[in-house]
Amino acid sequence: LERAYSFMVRVRVPGGVCSPEQWLAMDKLSDDYANHTLKLTTRQAFQFHGIIKSNLKRSIQEINKVVLDTIAACGDVNRNVMCNPNPEQSEIHAEALKIAQQLSDHLTPKTSAYHEIWLDGEKAVSSEPDEEPIYGKTYLPRKFKIVLAIPPSNDVDVFAHDLGLIAIVEEGKLAGFNFTVGGGMGMTHNNHATYPRLGDVLGFVKPEDVIPVAEAIVTTQRDFGDRSDRKHARLKYTIDDRGLDWFRGEVEARSGIKLGEARPYVFESTGDRYGWVEGTNGNFNLTLFVQNGRVRDDREIKMKTALREIAQVHNGDFRLTANQNLIIGKISPEKRPEIEKILAEYKLDRCFEQAGIRLNSMACVALPTCGLALAESERYLPDLVTELEGVIEAAGLEHEAIVIRMTGCPNGCARPYLGEIGLVGRSPGKYNLYLGAGFDGSRMNKLYKENVRQEEIAAVLQPIIERYARERKEGERFGDFTIRAGYVKAVKVAKTDWWA
Ligand code: SF4
Repeated sequence: LERAYSFMVRVRVPGGVCSPEQWLAMDKLSDDYANHTLKLTTRQAFQFHGIIKSNLKRSIQEINKVVLDTIAACGDVNRNVMCNPNPEQSEIHAEALKIAQQLSDHLTPKTSAYHEIWLDGEKAVSSEPDEEPIYGKTYLPRKFKIVLAIPPSNDVDVFAHDLGLIAIVEEGKLAGFNFTVGGGMGMTHNNHATYPRLGDVLGFVKPEDVIPVAEAIVTTQRDFGDRSDRKHARLKYTIDDRGLDWFRGEVEARSGIKLGEARPYVFESTGDRYGWVEGTNGNFNLTLFVQNGRVRDDREIKMKTALREIAQVHNGDFRLTANQNLIIGKISPEKRPEIEKILAEYKLDRCFEQAGIRLNSMACVALPTCGLALAESERYLPDLVTELEGVIEAAGLEHEAIVIRMTGCPNGCARPYLGEIGLVGRSPGKYNLYLGAGFDGSRMNKLYKENVRQEEIAAVLQPIIERYARERKEGERFGDFTIRAGYVKAVKVAKTDWWA
């Protein structure tokens, strides 16, 4: 008898946009082969948990039938390209999404091994060497992540990724992008050579130059990234070791394109805009709150069934957000009443009427399915938020958006170092508590207390929240207050400030 190995399968969804047919296929797959739930990830992908080994190939074939795949959803290559799902500016979203898809196509490995192994079952070793025009024979030193943001929303956390594109919209038209480079959330507890880092703004790039400049960035990292130490292999370390000016020069030389001066932009928040919005083309978009991205039926709310019924009548799209939420996009005025009826029937019509802290909470999977987890995350954060809601309500702050993020280990999948309150697992029931991130995603938080036991977290935060309620200035965000009040120092340069 073979052991019952079970797998996590991650489906790549460039820009986070899928059709109702694709949604229905994912829904069915989760019932047929996984644990009857869908996880919407912080990088706009689907994850299935609990797929046993004998069903693995069949699952991937089912995914492929609806023109989705798992290629480069993992590994030392460019991963799922994210894009702001923008419920408000439909035309800019359409343009940005197109560029995200082009980037994704351009940087997807060209190897035929995936198809040979998973799809047709024939020759697993090709007789001809695969041509990998960008990755060569040895791929990248480490994973590589790209996102597109459309200000004023920084919902994709543009600075947290290896390469970020900030859309510059001038006179209602997409003028191009400010490129950011060198972001990355992962670190290792107690290893001071590792640290999370936010990307630096490299310069301005016109839409027609996006692909060659992005490719030059990827190949520079391919050739100069550290291949001797995986903990020092991300682009952020290449840039800190060699300098941003050197990096820009190398990218310009490789692409033959001179980068422009970065153009002005303003980010306001990293959260999602919940509820109904009318797009620029007369259709409607509805952003639903999905706690920690877990789509399931439970005793109180049958979200999975409701979304299945919506997908059966909807002729627009579904957009996975970087905050693990879901936008039902391009709802025509004719279809809106039908969809509203389903939402009301399943009590989803008011799912976003929650305290600000819950609507801005995010947790990675962690236990029991992530093998790297040191502590609970997805299964624990909702309870902690409930505890904190009591404190927040008593302080009169229930409508304030406070960003709280938790992960089960320091790898940072839910980007905890960008939470105004960040919690990172140390061991079962214990977390490092970080404070002071910028609400707009432009500043990381900093360690406030180590190894806080989970039953103490709310008590540690209570006096800080109460003081914030009493002493905050007009419009001052919680993260900014914790710095002004002296709880933590601002992290300005990650390399020197993170561990100081
Ligand atoms: Fe797993 Fe750590 Fe990522 Fe959470 S942050 S999903 S525990 S690797």
